[in-house]
Amino acid sequence: LALPVRDGQWQEYNDTIDQSLKRRSGMRTALRGALQRGELFLVYQPKVDIKTNRIVGAEALLRWENSIYGKVSPVEFIPLAEASGEILSIGRWVILEALVALKRWRALHQVDDDFSLAVNVSPLQLMQADFAQTLLDMVSDSGVPPCCLELEVTESGLMQDMELALKQLRRLIQYGFKVGIDDFGTGYSSLAYLKTLPISVLKIDRAFIHELQSSIQDQKLTGTVIDMARHFGFSTVAEGVEQSEQLDWLSSMGCDLVQGYMFAPPLKENELLKLIDSGVEHLINKF
Ligand code: C2E
Ligand code: MG
Ligand code: MG
Ligand code: MG
Repeated sequence: LALPVRDGQWQEYNDTIDQSLKRRSGMRTALRGALQRGELFLVYQPKVDIKTNRIVGAEALLRWENSIYGKVSPVEFIPLAEASGEILSIGRWVILEALVALKRWRALHQVDDDFSLAVNVSPLQLMQADFAQTLLDMVSDSGVPPCCLELEVTESGLMQDMELALKQLRRLIQYGFKVGIDDFGTGYSSLAYLKTLPISVLKIDRAFIHELQSSIQDQKLTGTVIDMARHFGFSTVAEGVEQSEQLDWLSSMGCDLVQGYMFAPPLKENELLKLIDSGVEHLINKF
């Protein structure tokens, strides 16, 4: 790479690259022991039914806090865990942890059968031939009904080995699991493959919600996705809803669920349970 820079700038550029490589490799090492050291935990972001304003589910999101690197975003560490294969043991832990939490909330009657908890599933997990069977075993051990667990997979997760992915998802859907396509609209989805997908939920990516008020294009796109999902019998979730105008618009378009800072960021378990108790109506009126 030859950039027309003065020596000083060139040096700076090299140092920056060097530092980020060092950070990445250091993190990769630190991540290897993170589970054992108890540095990983889950937070939960509520999903709200747009018609009833009730919390009908949540998404479990992974967090990592390390003594050297502090709080690291999953946007940074998940790709590292995917590259090293570590995501397999981490992903398994996420599912077990989510099931244990869900079981606890159900036992306390904080949530019932209508409440589902979603976990993010990495493409690599889906590519394990025994993924579906392992999941079935974990869920049956936990005593949580499969319909209360949702798997969020991405379009790229499906594309790697479409046949294997579809086979496993079909089986899971048959058992009653919910399957959602995460970040819908940002990958390489084709209408042809949508019709064959064994899924129940489309999650519209935050990128399309972000400028909903100002962008006619994003309105058209989001509206079309919601209509299309309805025709296919999928329910829709809008990610990243921050303002009441976005909520109103999504509501008028017939979007089913919303998730976003307007209601809550990802929360610690006790905060989520408090919000389920208090409800979210007061948050809507505030705006
Ligand atoms: P995602 O699955 O699409 O999760 C939604 C992300 O959007 C979360 O970021 C959430 O905090 C953020 N978000 C939700 N509402 C708003 C909003 O109103 N405004 C803004 N600005 N952001 C909002 P987070 O927790 O940083 O996670 C980022 C990504 O990391 C996730 O995107 C997912 O792809 C990945 N990830 C997180 N946990 C796991 C996990 O357990 N396993 C795997 N494989 N990936 C995970
Ligand atoms: Mg997700
Ligand atoms: Mg998403
Ligand atoms: Mg997203």
